[in-house]
Amino acid sequence: MGSGSACRRGRSKPVLRRLIRYSEKIFDLGEVLGEVSDRRLRPRIPTLALLQSVLVLYWARLGSLHALETVRGASFWRRWLGQALASADTVGRVHTQLENQGLRRGLQHVYRRLKRNKALRGVGEWDIAVVDGHENHASYRRHCSGCLKRTLHTEQGEKIQFYHRQVTLMLRCEKMRLLLDVEAQLPGEQEVATALRLLQRVLQAYPRAFQLLMADALYAQAPFLNFLISHGKQVLLVLKEERRDLYQDVLGVLPLVTPQKGQYRSRDCLWWDVPDLTSWSKVSVPLRVVRSEETYEVRRQSSKQLSQERSAWMWVTTLPAARASTALVVHLGHARWDIENYGFNELVNSWHADHIYRHDPHAIEAFTLLAFLAYNLFHAFLARNIKPQLRCTKTESFWAQLITAQIYTEAGRRLTARSP
Ligand SMILES: [Zn+2]
Repeated sequence: MGSGSACRRGRSKPVLRRLIRYSEKIFDLGEVLGEVSDRRLRPRIPTLALLQSVLVLYWARLGSLHALETVRGASFWRRWLGQALASADTVGRVHTQLENQGLRRGLQHVYRRLKRNKALRGVGEWDIAVVDGHENHASYRRHCSGCLKRTLHTEQGEKIQFYHRQVTLMLRCEKMRLLLDVEAQLPGEQEVATALRLLQRVLQAYPRAFQLLMADALYAQAPFLNFLISHGKQVLLVLKEERRDLYQDVLGVLPLVTPQKGQYRSRDCLWWDVPDLTSWSKVSVPLRVVRSEETYEVRRQSSKQLSQERSAWMWVTTLPAARASTALVVHLGHARWDIENYGFNELVNSWHADHIYRHDPHAIEAFTLLAFLAYNLFHAFLARNIKPQLRCTKTESFWAQLITAQIYTEAGRRLTARSP
């Protein structure tokens, strides 16, 4: 029995329709996207219809504009867009001319609604954001004005590779993760400089969204820390050997500090917590370093035997001991990987967000911002609109595949109906 007849009998509505209704009711999706414009002089297809199409491209995980074109026959499009789906070329071309700031306003609107609805609780007393860079395209042939380039030494000699890199800011709440904004790394620029430009904008748009910013060891640079400290934010960064002055100082102090026993998940740990370090003289405040040596068991795939593994972590932070225990710093330090596991990896592997839908720097940013919007709305829908008992038994991928199935089923039905 088709989903349509189940629907008419009031059993259930297709997930895609429920997601759209939820996004419109709670987040005013139509109005928010309706305010986004583009630079076409005489647009034949409204910008809104193009943006709505791309949200579905992401929600249904279609992976390319070509795949979007193959499902043009689905009756869904006319119902939601009020017209036929545009061609892949039009969708791509308009994204080179979109007002991306309007998409950012859409992301802010979703954030503000979730905040007002108390859906964005932090961890303990801390609202946390994570910043990180991600490469999303590499090619020896195709390049554009926004491409970065590097020389690779291959068997055929030196080759120039072109690629794009973006820095993303993710809000890491207790039960939800929101992707707030993205900034492209420019040719000749260091990633930390890109991140500072991103943070300038984010701190204006979201002044109270987070008190603590986390990042990996690359960001352990004085200008980065001083910028955040001057804006009243706390910082937690991975500390590696490259940060020689502080690292050497800590190694000297560690033997004098008695470690405490602790637990991180199933791992037995030894923790050292060293406050008031002033050896990194370019940073405007004293810093605290926490080291965690962790022991855990891993079952070897080859021999099926349990073997004992060890790992060691070191973080540098401005968090005061009175407001963040050693255990909390270790817990938060590990949570930095969330932006990899639940941000980029999910966006790349499940959402095809690193696909270059149109090779143009402006379009790449527009598509990324729309992927963030689709991601935030989808996760808000799962967290707040799906019944808890269903949420526990069904994976995110289950809901995504239902959406994919609806679009393909409708497109297929049209084909079958037209067959002689
Ligand atoms: Zn490029």
